[in-house]
Amino acid sequence: MDVIKKNWFSESCEMWPGSTFSFEVKKLLHKERSPFQEIQVFDSTSLGRVLVLDGIIQCTQKDEYSYQEMISFLPLCCHRNPEKVLIVGGGDGGVARDVAKHPNVKEIVQVEIDAKVIEVSKKYLPFMAVGFDSKKLTLHVGDGFEFMKNHSHEFDVIITDSSDPIGPAVSLFQENYFSLMKSALKPNGIVCSQAGTYWDNMDLVKNTLNICKNQFPSAAYAITSVPTYPSGSIGFVIGSLEENVKFDNPVREFTREQLNDMDLKYYNTDIHKAAFALPNFVKNVIDA
Ligand code: SAM
Repeated sequence: MDVIKKNWFSESCEMWPGSTFSFEVKKLLHKERSPFQEIQVFDSTSLGRVLVLDGIIQCTQKDEYSYQEMISFLPLCCHRNPEKVLIVGGGDGGVARDVAKHPNVKEIVQVEIDAKVIEVSKKYLPFMAVGFDSKKLTLHVGDGFEFMKNHSHEFDVIITDSSDPIGPAVSLFQENYFSLMKSALKPNGIVCSQAGTYWDNMDLVKNTLNICKNQFPSAAYAITSVPTYPSGSIGFVIGSLEENVKFDNPVREFTREQLNDMDLKYYNTDIHKAAFALPNFVKNVIDA
């Protein structure tokens, strides 16, 4: 498929065959092939800047905060004292930006496989890459799976902000990765991973949630709205080493004023609770 036609970029991927999301391109700002993937950055007519990896939209200036805030604050607000946080992936810097806003977080470690994504994001996506300026952050370039093997009982929260399970992120959706994350957590630790959307990838949602349930005594799936992702949404699996965790009942709540002070545009306690409410056709599949 010709992905840029008459100034329109169309996303196409084997994970959602037969349909595509398109946007009008103002300018292609950057294109290169790193050792891991093809990286493109566009300026667009209606979405602002857009980061595309291997032909798949990773984030747009218009709606990136919904994803970044939710993958960060869902696990952070389910933990009583999230002092040390590990981010795997997240090469655009958006998750580091938002994790750093939580008042209890003292230390963030991030491991991103592709130095080129970091470099390009710093140049073209400063509204997200500002996360790399946080004094709380120590940034490593490397494979998150390999990194996890060398860390035990260290983190309160692990956030896996990975690309989809094709290319370098395949290992981050496998059971042995969830097992390694479990070992890397402190007691009562929590993990949260990108896990696809039920509209297009029910098998991915079910498999990733089942893996999480196998490894963690408490596990759930939550969803957020991201208009520029396939079918307009994306989900997360969240797992805790504590038993009987009610993920839809956050242990930390922030007032409207506190949320505004942190410049959180999407996340609040109502959104947190609603994120775990699932339609019947999804419950019937994942509970089966
Ligand atoms: N929000 C995005 C989404 O779900 O579409 C993800 C954004 S972020 C750019 C994804 C990052 O994960 C990419 O920069 C990619 O290089 C990184 N990544 C993929 N596999 C990885 C691995 N095995 N270890 C560390 N980082 C990885």
